[in-house]
Amino acid sequence: MGNRFCRICGEHKPLTLEHIPPRSTGNDHVVVVHRGDEAVMHSLFDMEVRDDDGYRQSHGMTFKTLCEDCNEYLGANYVETFKGLYLDFAHESGDILDGLDRDRNESETDGVERYCEFDLGEGFRPLAFVKQVVSNFCATTAPGSMLDCKDFLLDRGNISLPARYRLHMAVLPKLDGESVFSGWMRVLFDDGTFCDMAFIRMPPFGFVLYDTESSTYLPDRAGDITPMSRMGWDETGKITLVLPTVTGRNASRPYLWGRYQNAV
Ligand SMILES: [Zn+2]
Repeated sequence: MGNRFCRICGEHKPLTLEHIPPRSTGNDHVVVVHRGDEAVMHSLFDMEVRDDDGYRQSHGMTFKTLCEDCNEYLGANYVETFKGLYLDFAHESGDILDGLDRDRNESETDGVERYCEFDLGEGFRPLAFVKQVVSNFCATTAPGSMLDCKDFLLDRGNISLPARYRLHMAVLPKLDGESVFSGWMRVLFDDGTFCDMAFIRMPPFGFVLYDTESSTYLPDRAGDITPMSRMGWDETGKITLVLPTVTGRNASRPYLWGRYQNAV
């Protein structure tokens, strides 16, 4: 069984079922898994879920790609922070979405389509949040494609996310809806360049991970949260996230999330 090794530690150990996102964020309803979207030319989609014609439905999204030790480490160190941001956002989202409508005209002049600001609570740990997001990419991309994240993920104080990764975050105004995990995919541009990226949609947030080493072109996008991966474990405190907001059709075109108006 060639693929049955843990996608974080790389060891051949029994893999355990894990809910992504954690069940307590509401991941217990029927979800649909897609193979990316129609604009994606090549998909290296690979998940350990049963796959009927590219999608399946299940109660909650589960993956069996990590070992028990890794799952427990994530659960003990990162999951609460991750869940906390979802719960805080749900609490404040009414105001935030109202603000988006107010900001729309103003933001058009500075080049960003729409964005929102969100204050993180005093005890929020940016590093833990980023680690949980990165672990979700490990669990849902091709086996072995992210083993270089092992030290970053399995030592909570490690701030060395490998330099090839760039992580972006966006707000998806539709507050509920299905979670989607793309796996690695290659987006081709008209001039023959391409970027390698994976995305995760977990409404109300979406995440895009770029591989800056294998890509020949990197789109200039707002919402880069990679710097949060270099904050110390004990660096908590007040942070304001300024995130691009994805509207309408672009929700299913993650390579456009956070696009500046004049950019391609
Ligand atoms: Zn493991």
